[in-house]
Amino acid sequence: MARFRIVQNRKKCIGCGFCVALCHTNWYMEKDGKASPKKRIVRAIGCNKLAADNCPVQVISVIRMLK
Ligand code: SF4
Repeated sequence: MARFRIVQNRKKCIGCGFCVALCHTNWYMEKDGKASPKKRIVRAIGCNKLAADNCPVQVISVIRMLK
């Protein structure tokens, strides 16, 4: 079964909240005003792709894992 790794360059997150709005099942805002993924390894890419595609500073990547 496929698995995906969610990678975020959090240092460059501007806290716009788009990822949370588009994918609240796996993204949330932290107290410092930046977003984080709830899970970094997921079995289905789901809305994480939407979050990655719409991050205005392109700090989210979704990578298919080989194993
Ligand atoms: S969409 Fe990108 S910049 Fe905006 S909160 Fe999410 S990770 Fe940060």
